[in-house]
Amino acid sequence: TTVLAFESSCDETGVALVRVEPGRAPRLLAHALHSQIAMHREYGGVVPELASRDHVRRVVPLARQACAEAGVSWAGVDVVAFTQGPGLAGALLVGAATACALAAAIDRPVLGIHHLEGHLLSPFLSADPPEFPFVALLVSGGHTQLMRVDDVGCYELLGETIDDAAGEAFDKSAKLLGLDYPGGPALSRLAQAGDPAAFDLPRPLLHQPNLDFSFAGLKTAVATALRRLGPQPSAGQCADLAASTQAAIVEVLVRKSAKALQHTGLRRLVVAGGVGANRHLREQLDALAQRRGWRVHYPELHLCTDNGAMIALAAGMRLAAGLCQPLRHYAFDVKPRWALAEVAA
Ligand code: ATP
Ligand code: MG
Ligand code: FE
Repeated sequence: TTVLAFESSCDETGVALVRVEPGRAPRLLAHALHSQIAMHREYGGVVPELASRDHVRRVVPLARQACAEAGVSWAGVDVVAFTQGPGLAGALLVGAATACALAAAIDRPVLGIHHLEGHLLSPFLSADPPEFPFVALLVSGGHTQLMRVDDVGCYELLGETIDDAAGEAFDKSAKLLGLDYPGGPALSRLAQAGDPAAFDLPRPLLHQPNLDFSFAGLKTAVATALRRLGPQPSAGQCADLAASTQAAIVEVLVRKSAKALQHTGLRRLVVAGGVGANRHLREQLDALAQRRGWRVHYPELHLCTDNGAMIALAAGMRLAAGLCQPLRHYAFDVKPRWALAEVAA
């Protein structure tokens, strides 16, 4: 079975092809991606209406490109998948409409996929794929969750952020520091030159027994620290503040992940989502895992942020597991708000 998938939930247009064969791991045939980061940069964040329009411009050329790279014609596509939610409604509609129009034209069924399921399963495309069961730390621009994952489609929420997401904390702190959008990678680059112990920033909920997170207070603390530094902080002070911010976010993520592994008795952690690309987070998790005898799995660096490959993979894995029946139902809908736990096995 060959799956062609569309991702358009936010500011990346992604199209990918995955092949699923009985008894074999799904194989990525090709994926094409266009990031709108440069377009949104001058606004300091994603402008939803611009995002939708750009998806419209990119999606068909990207689909042709992915098919050409995979050496698959429209007729060679068996199932069409798309990100059904969560995300920006207008942006989601572009992928959904394109997928359903193509599926109708080539007379194939369609399958709506949960965006976070894509992130969560993306490490299965890496050179060191995980095995079930595992704890997943999902850290993206819109979500920060710990999940227990027993199989494809078996997701139990263990804890999540009660306010901002980890990626949001990176982005908002970076903005305060005057860094370019998106702030996560920029802040992490600046942090390399700084002292992570220079500023004593809060680690909210760190000592609570639950597995919830809170990052809203951190950006207030960063703003306060900046105000104290006066109107012209030095480059060194900015680097120190960036390093301290990153250390605060990463420490909470690492300690709560450890707590989740202890609570569940599992020994395997999967990290997914854009913040999973953060080097400091990977180093800290790897160091702790080595001491405790745990395994940590990550997506390939270029598949941490949004892409079509993870959606094609999630569709392929659901089909291979016999979990869902793609439908010839082209009256599509999207789900801008949608909890992963609602994706029943
Ligand atoms: P969601 O998946 O929750 O809907 P999203 O799709 O916008 O949100 P992703 O594309 O998974 O999120 O990730 C984007 C986020 O990852 C941004 O907040 C970005 O700053 C952050 N990010 C990317 N690279 C890094 C990095 N190296 N260090 C820290 N944060 C990073
Ligand atoms: Mg993005
Ligand atoms: Fe995402």
